[in-house]
Amino acid sequence: MAAAGAEAPRAWCVPCLVSLDTLQELCRKEKLTCKSIGITKRNLNNYEVEYLCDYKVVKDVEYYLVKWKGWPESTNTWEPLSNLRCPQLLQQFSSDKNSFLSRVKKGKAVTPKNSRKSLPPAVAEYIVKKAKQRIALQRWQDYLNRRKNHKGMIFVENTVDLEGPPLDFYYINEYRPAPGITINNEATFGCSCTDCFMGKCCPVEAGVVLAYNKNQQIKIKPGTPIYECNSRCRCGPDCPNRIVQKGTQYSLCIFRTSNGCGWGVKTLVKIKRMSFVMEYVGEVITSEEAEKRGQLYDNQGITYLFDLDYESDEFTVDAARYGNVSHFVNHSCDPNLQVFSVFIENLDTRLPRIALFSTRTIKAGEELTFDYQMKGCGELSSDSVDHSPAKKRVRTECKCGAETCRGYLN
Ligand SMILES: [Zn+2]
Ligand SMILES: [Zn+2]
Ligand SMILES: [Zn+2]
Ligand SMILES: [Zn+2]
Repeated sequence: MAAAGAEAPRAWCVPCLVSLDTLQELCRKEKLTCKSIGITKRNLNNYEVEYLCDYKVVKDVEYYLVKWKGWPESTNTWEPLSNLRCPQLLQQFSSDKNSFLSRVKKGKAVTPKNSRKSLPPAVAEYIVKKAKQRIALQRWQDYLNRRKNHKGMIFVENTVDLEGPPLDFYYINEYRPAPGITINNEATFGCSCTDCFMGKCCPVEAGVVLAYNKNQQIKIKPGTPIYECNSRCRCGPDCPNRIVQKGTQYSLCIFRTSNGCGWGVKTLVKIKRMSFVMEYVGEVITSEEAEKRGQLYDNQGITYLFDLDYESDEFTVDAARYGNVSHFVNHSCDPNLQVFSVFIENLDTRLPRIALFSTRTIKAGEELTFDYQMKGCGELSSDSVDHSPAKKRVRTECKCGAETCRGYLN
């Protein structure tokens, strides 16, 4: 069946109740390869080390306990170091061991002498957990990159704790309207400019100015809406008024923060000031439904509710279960991203799209943040064009660490 949209195939995915080990055994019996459960031509008949689980010394010979790729843990075997051709995994093993020991050492005496002959069980346990986490995060990273439809890559990294991928999170590229809500994605108007930079283009028709300069940077004040060219416009993909619709261009990394803020997002490349970084997407629900969900959610869940009160307060975006990378962007009272309302195909002012733009140059490696309570622009609060593009409902202590921190997320 031809899929109507990128999201359609998921409807046919059902969770498998059989364990990974059983599936791998079945494949081996039938001599079938299946990349997604780790059985490849290479390891169907041969053995490939997936990770190392333990270490011991017997009669001056060093051994490692090996988990074989595509084989259940019950078939793990001890192999002498001289048989192993996996320098990276050996390196990983030793760095995991050291990071565990350095954490435990604080306050504890030197490890007992016999530890040179074998590892304390707690260390081996940690190393295995870390190896499994790495595999799970890699799988999740692959999933995110398969799902996303924009240019920038998504990376996942946790060097802080043993947290794995979120259990109940589904990647989407655009708003997912709840049953009963229709988002009209057929523009009713398009421009016929020969040059959208000079002409009486879509924004002018909507009563605002073109949002971008020639360097694809946003030049309008926060609180002013963006009207981009759409499928009805005569211009092509190179039109200077098509930015948000092209999606995230930067490679970003979902990483575990070390200051107790859970997951966060950092950029892996430099981002110019005033540039489009990402869209905020989620389920579109009525504000009544949002009230109900807000009661059920804990603080964490509530922070994913984003009211679309640009011109009415009918709808809310809930990114708790369905979202993109923006789901993981943390709040800051001194943020480097700013929220704007965007209209492209859908011109319904009750349902703006939410785009995040950089407020300044962001260096590679810097965490991305936005103000969950951003209200258009602070200085313009009495201005008539100061629509609040969106705000999140939160009553949580803020850990952003900014000098100007308000202490609470609202
Ligand atoms: Zn135009
Ligand atoms: Zn155009
Ligand atoms: Zn246009
Ligand atoms: Zn703060």
